[in-house]
Amino acid sequence: MRQVPFLARRGQRLRHAVTLTWVLLSSGSGAMSSRAAGAADAPAPKPLSPAPAGAGSRPSVPPTPAPASGPAAAAAVPSPSQEHVMNKSGGEAFPFPVDQKVFANGLRAYVVHYDSPGLVAYYSVVRTGSRNEVEPGKSGFAHFFEHMMFRGTDKYSQEAYNAVIKEIGADSNAYTSDDLTVYHILAGKAALPRIVEIEADRFQNLKYSEPDFEKEARAVLGEYNKGASNPFQKMFEALFDHAFTRHTYKHTTIGFLKDIENMPHEFAYSRQFFDRYYRPDNVTLVVVGDVATETAWDLIEKHYGGWKGGPPRPVVPSEPPQAAEKRVALGWTGATLPQLLIGYHTPGFSTTNVDLAALDVLAELLFAERAPLYKRLVITEQKVETLSGANEAHVDPNLFTILARVKKPEDLPGVEAAISDEVKRLAREGIDDKTLRDVLSHVKYAFAAQLATADKTANVAAQFIALTGKIDAINAYFALYDKVTPADIKRIAAQYFAPSNRTVVTLKANTDAKKAGR
Ligand SMILES: [Zn+2]
Repeated sequence: MRQVPFLARRGQRLRHAVTLTWVLLSSGSGAMSSRAAGAADAPAPKPLSPAPAGAGSRPSVPPTPAPASGPAAAAAVPSPSQEHVMNKSGGEAFPFPVDQKVFANGLRAYVVHYDSPGLVAYYSVVRTGSRNEVEPGKSGFAHFFEHMMFRGTDKYSQEAYNAVIKEIGADSNAYTSDDLTVYHILAGKAALPRIVEIEADRFQNLKYSEPDFEKEARAVLGEYNKGASNPFQKMFEALFDHAFTRHTYKHTTIGFLKDIENMPHEFAYSRQFFDRYYRPDNVTLVVVGDVATETAWDLIEKHYGGWKGGPPRPVVPSEPPQAAEKRVALGWTGATLPQLLIGYHTPGFSTTNVDLAALDVLAELLFAERAPLYKRLVITEQKVETLSGANEAHVDPNLFTILARVKKPEDLPGVEAAISDEVKRLAREGIDDKTLRDVLSHVKYAFAAQLATADKTANVAAQFIALTGKIDAINAYFALYDKVTPADIKRIAAQYFAPSNRTVVTLKANTDAKKAGR
């Protein structure tokens, strides 16, 4: 399966439930699977689902926002403003009318007018994910904290919160990924006042005991261990750990095992985490569906108006260029097909860098089911069970990842060589205009499919907000596709896919059953 380019994919988002799409912002195609395991799901330990194994599925992944690695937030609080951001017009990737307002405390909110009579999707987007876990020993905290957000307040205990959700007949959940944490509710429009009230309450007044904290920490460890039963978690963990030396993308969203094991002792730090990141200038609300703009603004002002800004947030370190190829060979105790996972460093998200759109196109050219490489390895030679690749959008430079589940261990080197050769062929021969147009058409169509419901549309918006802070990044990014030329494809195939820019992870079942592979 493929995904749509842009955001989506790789897997890692730990989520509680939902599944949507993540198809969005990542570009890629093929089935990919997830990256690490860790991300976050929410409160109770829910299934994390590391990647499915099917041929095409990728775990879910969310995209993330943007600013380069900088102080993520410390930006100045914008002055209050209100504007109509986009009008419905034909041809735009995100065709819905949008109203935006920045409140006096820096909280930004969007109302997206979507034709879903009687229904409203309410998304609270925290522009903090595992990328922001800059302190040693604290990996996995964004995800862990997502769990804690369901622990209640003085006004609404966990039970009282859940009772409200049930009473209004809402679906409520959350997920965490590299660049963001999202809390989302889907309900009837009449419930909007209650939703705004309970969400505003927990974002400002969260309260939990140390025993509750320790209990949730154990739930997160259980979630890690569950993910660890799947080879994907181990592979993505190894890929990012080796590909990155300084940047926090070195750890996956769920975090390093040793840090998760230590979480029960980090109660004090958890309060600091909340104090630092759950602040109005680091959160964006997205309300999509059947809602009147002024009603939304009034409710938000009433319930979030007293929320205050916090201390400056730490800067995320930048990653120096990789100088030489890195290789990691993993063993696995238990049954598994041999697997190959390759990551090439790519730029962070931008609405002006055409290379990103070209990388999305390249992912399609290489890994879509109609691609020559896919047909050869999967269908004709039948050496590979699943093959996928994607350029997942991230705030900071991340990786273009390629994943192949190979049928026989002895075919691993040949499959790796076939992938490299195909990239070299594209760098040498390029593609013609028609092929490019066909791919772009597919990419745009697939993206539009991600906007099929109010809830999915809110999620798409959340991904871009995480990347840049602004919903208009969607149309700005899509405009890049029309700038991609066949010459760009040749250039990026040569530029980003050099061996020195990659990390290769292979995994095979241990032949000696006594050897612990994991
Ligand atoms: Zn979780």
